[in-house]
Amino acid sequence: MRIILFGSPGVGKGTQAKILSSQFSIPHISTGDILRSAIDNRTSLGMEAKKIMDKGELVPDNVMIGIIRDTIQEAKCKNGFILDGFPRTIAQAENLDKLLMELHMYEKILVAITANEEEIIRRLTNRRACKVCNQIFVLNEIECADTCPNCGAKESFYQRSDDKEEVIRKRLEVFKNTTEPVLRYYEKNNNVIYINGIGSIEDVTQRILEKINK
Ligand code: AMP
Repeated sequence: MRIILFGSPGVGKGTQAKILSSQFSIPHISTGDILRSAIDNRTSLGMEAKKIMDKGELVPDNVMIGIIRDTIQEAKCKNGFILDGFPRTIAQAENLDKLLMELHMYEKILVAITANEEEIIRRLTNRRACKVCNQIFVLNEIECADTCPNCGAKESFYQRSDDKEEVIRKRLEVFKNTTEPVLRYYEKNNNVIYINGIGSIEDVTQRILEKINK
């Protein structure tokens, strides 16, 4: 199964992608995680990407398309994958379609998770990530904890540098102007499954599974 998870920053794509990845035993490919890992490893890609990410802007298409081209061709992706954070521009979507055709990967499901902007801003300003397992938490879930409930790491929570208020505003503007049109592109060419992203993590997963299974 090949799933493209689409939605605004903070809508819960990463959280749902991790759950679906273990449910269907297919890899979760998060372009944001790939870039953050390049930053942690101080590669030249990481150093360049950090400057762009800290401004809330998009890393150039040719770089991102190259990353996805390499990743999708790895053996772990042969039975499917979940894309989270890619494609984010029409050029990325067109190139992904071309690549999937080349690889004879014809079927894919586009899942668009939606939530209103107020909820998105609340979630992004209140979220923390575990630097060991990358799991995302909302502050009130971990308020008194110094151990990650997912991987057990101690004192591993941090606020992503692009989750600061002015960067959040920029990321949402980029989403509206550049990434949302990608949805229109897919609406023309494919079936898009819309999922209401408001509610508990379990409820949203349930909604996704019901629609996918149909
Ligand atoms: P995310 O973790 O998906 O919110 O991504 C964090 C940041 O990484 C984004 O704000 C972009 O700067 C960069 N990024 C991730 N995926 C892409 C992509 N497909 N195209 C361009 N930039 C990306």
